[in-house]
Amino acid sequence: MRIKIRKKHMFKAVFLDRDGTLIQERHYLSDPEQVVLEPTVIDALQLLRRHRFRLIMVTNQSGIGRGRIKLRQFLAVQRRLIDLLAPHGVFFDDFYYCPHHPTEARDPYRKFCHCRKPGAGMLLEGIKKYRIEPQYSYMIGDKRADVEAGYNAHVQPILVKTGYGSNYSGPAPGYVADTLLAAAEYIVARETKERF
Ligand SMILES: [Mg+2]
Ligand SMILES: [Zn+2]
Repeated sequence: MRIKIRKKHMFKAVFLDRDGTLIQERHYLSDPEQVVLEPTVIDALQLLRRHRFRLIMVTNQSGIGRGRIKLRQFLAVQRRLIDLLAPHGVFFDDFYYCPHHPTEARDPYRKFCHCRKPGAGMLLEGIKKYRIEPQYSYMIGDKRADVEAGYNAHVQPILVKTGYGSNYSGPAPGYVADTLLAAAEYIVARETKERF
């Protein structure tokens, strides 16, 4: 009985990379006007929401530490992304960013941190805060660091072929999807299968 009650209060999540996954890759994006959603993003996030996945964005933003982007510019871009999704009933439960870089960033951002992907720090923080079961959760991204962060957090990594995804080399992800919607459909199909 105790186990059942506990289960009821656990959640599943999809962790999402930002650049090349949710929005088009731009070198050190600082202008909210340049935020363009990748194709199928709205349909994909709506599908995951309907299946009660928590949505948590996790993004490396060493541009902040390097002095290429101001924190307020990063937040303005985030605001723009939220505003593009909100009319479609889609929202993130949370978002995490890593401003650090081990060698290229300025103080106090120059350090070996656990949050920079492929580190699992941002995912582990979300898992803890939102009581997420890694076993039923996913990390979707377009780079090796995303796939490795997924494995490091013990969630299933999915590679999308948007962004840098078509030039991927690294450990085999759990699944490769052409679009975010294809990734979401894979997740939902897998979940349905598990139930039987
Ligand atoms: Mg990316
Ligand atoms: Zn960091």
